[in-house]
Amino acid sequence: MMHILLISVALLSKPTLEEDVVIMGSGPAGMTAAIYAARSGLSTLVIEGNENGGQITLSYKVDNFPGFPDGISGEELGENMRKQALKFGAKIQSAKVESVDMTKRPFVLKLEGGKEVSSKAVIIASGASTKWLEIPSEAALIGKGVNSCAVCDAPFFIGKEVVVIGGGDSALEDALYLANYATKVTIINRKDNLRASPYLQKKVHANKKIEFVWNSTIEEIKDPINEKVTGVTLLDAITKQLKFFPCDGVFIAIGHSPNTQLFKGKLELDETGYVITKPHSTETAVDGVFAAGDVADPKYRQAIIAAGSGSMAAIDAYNFIQKQQKGKK
Ligand code: NDP
Repeated sequence: MMHILLISVALLSKPTLEEDVVIMGSGPAGMTAAIYAARSGLSTLVIEGNENGGQITLSYKVDNFPGFPDGISGEELGENMRKQALKFGAKIQSAKVESVDMTKRPFVLKLEGGKEVSSKAVIIASGASTKWLEIPSEAALIGKGVNSCAVCDAPFFIGKEVVVIGGGDSALEDALYLANYATKVTIINRKDNLRASPYLQKKVHANKKIEFVWNSTIEEIKDPINEKVTGVTLLDAITKQLKFFPCDGVFIAIGHSPNTQLFKGKLELDETGYVITKPHSTETAVDGVFAAGDVADPKYRQAIIAAGSGSMAAIDAYNFIQKQQKGKK
């Protein structure tokens, strides 16, 4: 009797799923990793969290991803990648990963609800999330004039007037990029000085299309009822006055946060929280754990680069597993 009880406890506590590779994240990095891993014969599970398909799905139209000369909506691109991964046998599960034990292999991931998954290799592709202003009307207008990626969406603002929120390198780079398309770009900064590098500041000040509104924050974006941006209500931090500032688009550039909360103290992260990988590789500080896409890329943040590094991670994971198996023989 005692034996039976012990065995059933052991079975209950045993991970319910055993995989070759678990991929955390379902954006371009995660899905490309899944396509490559499943296609190479590895049993592959993608765990997607809240942002199914990643940030790319927020883009109204992606026209710089090679292979789509007429462009493609971010949502459709994400959906296509998903279908391709499923076609090769990858499994996709919606779940929140609560913890990952990286101290021994196979790695064990605990999912919300108590389920456990064990895996020979883990690919972290959990991305970086845009920091949003979190003001009324912003969420309703994302993709309808409110954007977070100038390189993705600037071409939709040819001949239009836009505002960029922020005062760091991202905001200034976005403003410079947008100035190639828009007739006027106004940077709204909450202070009277910029955090951005002097080099970018010089370039922005030299650009006649770019203007500044200082000491101001956005209180509201108009007009969610008409499902388009018509302007922003600004609060002047000094005069405390509200004023309406007309514009056709709003670009939020107040920073990104890599989704690495689960890996603090387990992997090597840089000072802003991005996973550090070895040069020209997706290997992290832990053998068998790989990182791909924006979670390890504070610089480029492009879907095509995320996809490329996703394929690298799957190849690295495949080689790692092969090496482990050969070592056992
Ligand atoms: P940063 O954190 O450097 O800057 C964020 C900016 O947004 C700051 O001006 C900040 O204001 C402002 N901000 C933050 N929250 C709010 C808010 N709620 N409302 C209004 N304004 C807000 O982020 P970046 O994305 O610009 O840069 C991140 C890192 O990436 C940096 O290290 C940067 O150097 C690097 N980077 C490098 C690039 C390059 O080398 N080409 C390009 C882009 C980024 P405040 O100053 O008042 O806090």
